[in-house]
Amino acid sequence: MTINPSRIKVNKIKDKTKSAWLTYFYVGEMGGAFSEDARRVFIVNLFATVGAFFTLPLGLSSLYEGKIFLGSALIFIAFLYSMNHVYLRYTHNHSVSGNFVIYPLYTLMVYLIYTGGIHGTGHVWIYCIPAVALFLHGMKRGLIELSVFTLALVFVMFFTDSHFVESGYHSSLKSRILFSFLVVVFLSAIYEYSMSRFNQELKETSAKLKLVANTDALTELLNRRGMMQRLEGTAYTRYHLLLADVDFFKRINDEYGHDVGDYALAELGRIIQKPLLKGGLASRWGGEEFLVAVCDCTELDAFNLAESIRQQVEEHEFVYLDQKFRMTLSFGVATMNEFTSLRETITLADNRLYSAKRAGRNQTRRR
Ligand code: GH3
Ligand code: MG
Ligand code: MG
Repeated sequence: MTINPSRIKVNKIKDKTKSAWLTYFYVGEMGGAFSEDARRVFIVNLFATVGAFFTLPLGLSSLYEGKIFLGSALIFIAFLYSMNHVYLRYTHNHSVSGNFVIYPLYTLMVYLIYTGGIHGTGHVWIYCIPAVALFLHGMKRGLIELSVFTLALVFVMFFTDSHFVESGYHSSLKSRILFSFLVVVFLSAIYEYSMSRFNQELKETSAKLKLVANTDALTELLNRRGMMQRLEGTAYTRYHLLLADVDFFKRINDEYGHDVGDYALAELGRIIQKPLLKGGLASRWGGEEFLVAVCDCTELDAFNLAESIRQQVEEHEFVYLDQKFRMTLSFGVATMNEFTSLRETITLADNRLYSAKRAGRNQTRRR
């Protein structure tokens, strides 16, 4: 297979153009992020940009047609929409930015319905309102605003001397505009409803999957991956790690069977978790190993906690159907601080755990 260098160059230019567009619409650092905020910033920015592209030429043509007020208003809106990008870039506030898009649009539409815009065609633009309003403000607020807007339409069309008579339209046009507008509102609402339900379900599923991916099914504690994520993401620079391993666990499996072994691990998880409810994290680090993290305490407190869990396990009688047995734990304790990395601290706790094993098991080592 031959590689064509000019093709690679074209692809690179395409990628650069694509990423420049994405950077523009996601206003920089949120580029491509899978989050509701990033999506909203993207859409508000897109609406505003498309709005500016439409309103600027329409404004210029209105000025050319001698409609000074309409032309100036459209050019002002085009300017406002362009500034919207700058505002989003500095604040990322898509909610305020969305208001900048929608409220001038409502005002402009009411004005167009009243005056007829150019050659009495102003009303053709009102159909873009429902989709924009429902997207930017959601179902509830969007529908309230659309109801107010519809009332304003009814008032302007039927109770003021709007342009319809002077433009020479048939009297039925006004009710046709109203009904067709309501049909578009209805269809847009159905679309928005199904989209927001779909998004909600997607969010819930993604949260559930995240939980499952970070939880150990047997003990319901964090698993290794979940624990690593929490430790790597913590703002604390000083905390203590307590690494525990069950002594001679293989014998439990061999003597009583794997199901009993599973039960014993789940029960151990509960015993280890109990004293941490006030603060601290417990995880199933591996097969019969548990890693606990505690902060806001001294090294001695962490050691005492390990000792207290160890003693509780030693004194606990495990009962599964008619089987009764006891187990013990060995602990290695190490402290994470500004000068050590997480991996170094885990290795240190592991080394201490194994020196507890070598020294006869059922004990805690912190040196
Ligand atoms: P030591 O005191 O040296 O730690 O001895 P040990 O027998 O605990 O050590 P070893 O690592 O040899 O054995 C651990 C055993 O844990 C082996 C494995 O079968 C068992 N194990 C690991 N995960 C599970 C599990 O999810 N369920 C059950 N029932 N057993 C498990
Ligand atoms: Mg073991
Ligand atoms: Mg082990």
